[in-house]
Amino acid sequence: MSARWPRQVLFGDIDAMFASAAVLADPSLEGKPVAVGGPPPRGIIAAASYAVRRFGVHSAMPTIQALRLCPHLVLVPPDRPLYQRLHRELQTVTARFFPETEWTSVDEFYTDTTKLQTRHPDPRELGLALKAEISRSTGLTCTVALASGKAVAKIAASTHKPDGLSVIEPGCEPAFLAPLPIGSLPGMGPKSTEAVQRLGVRVIGDLLAPRFESTLFLLLGTRMTSLQSLARGVDTDPVVADRETKSMSHETTFDEDTDDLLRLEPIVHGFLEQLTHDLRMEGLAAGSFTIKLKDARFRITTRQRTFSTVLNYDPDMWPDIRRTLVELMQPGARYRLVGLGLSNLVSAPEPLFDRRQREAVAILDQLIERHGAGVVRLGGLPRSDEGDRKRKHGRQD
Ligand SMILES: [Mg+2]
Repeated sequence: MSARWPRQVLFGDIDAMFASAAVLADPSLEGKPVAVGGPPPRGIIAAASYAVRRFGVHSAMPTIQALRLCPHLVLVPPDRPLYQRLHRELQTVTARFFPETEWTSVDEFYTDTTKLQTRHPDPRELGLALKAEISRSTGLTCTVALASGKAVAKIAASTHKPDGLSVIEPGCEPAFLAPLPIGSLPGMGPKSTEAVQRLGVRVIGDLLAPRFESTLFLLLGTRMTSLQSLARGVDTDPVVADRETKSMSHETTFDEDTDDLLRLEPIVHGFLEQLTHDLRMEGLAAGSFTIKLKDARFRITTRQRTFSTVLNYDPDMWPDIRRTLVELMQPGARYRLVGLGLSNLVSAPEPLFDRRQREAVAILDQLIERHGAGVVRLGGLPRSDEGDRKRKHGRQD
């Protein structure tokens, strides 16, 4: 039994969701080295079971390379309707436990459990009860972590996978974080990580070591303060529950803060391409969108707009979204994060396109399934090859 926490956030992450779903759909795969992805020569691994990860296989790896590492690999194609059905079952479970849940992807969620402490004074018992109920109703295992903020809960879950439960008591955050690799801190992208490693900074605790203070400041400038706060476990990012049950979003944190529209535009456009592809694969269309920006001082601004009609084809949606992004950016502000959400999702009305256009879009979607949204496109839109399109908080499991 623990003392009441000033703030308590629970993070849940289904273990290897797509690969686990494949086993649920076909129990004969149980115990086999299952991976979800496209076939060689061009296919990519979308998700790897833990049995396959032992061979060094990970998501985003070309299937051909995965087969070299693990010749007995059982390759299963993605099954989006199955993931959506499991997602809805998971939402039913979380709705029974929590008044509000923020889903950041099909298999990851945060909920603010501060007020639930009266009924559930022991965070460990709450975590165990949730894990048991998720397993009973869906057959999936979930790693759960409770901490005073979202970032620490997320990191704690990633270090306790699979089927883990982690409770980081208030005040214990700096000690928990100190020995972890510097790259596990949100906001430390590959480029920043490499740069600080060159200074000799290896673990999160090094961010607070006096001997690195001046060189880190030269490298990171004002970002250092926010990273040091995180290293101390100070994280007030709120849980924002999806009141509309039907929405989807992507966001990314930059390696370096930026005020450059030309940098933000292709990133938001890339999100739109992926989201509209997901909409079409699920037979949905969106009624509105939300742009989210977080500035260098962690202030979040958002703007939601409604399309003149429900849409699911990115060229039709981009002008409104671009205009809103331009409006939302403040002169002189530097941004550390940008996100795009589509909401008011409904079943796509049949005559969204004429027949020829529908066939072209269907071929496009097949190509995107095979090669990813950044690679293929129909003509007519400007294109930037700028990368930096990580999924929200990365995607490992
Ligand atoms: Mg997961």
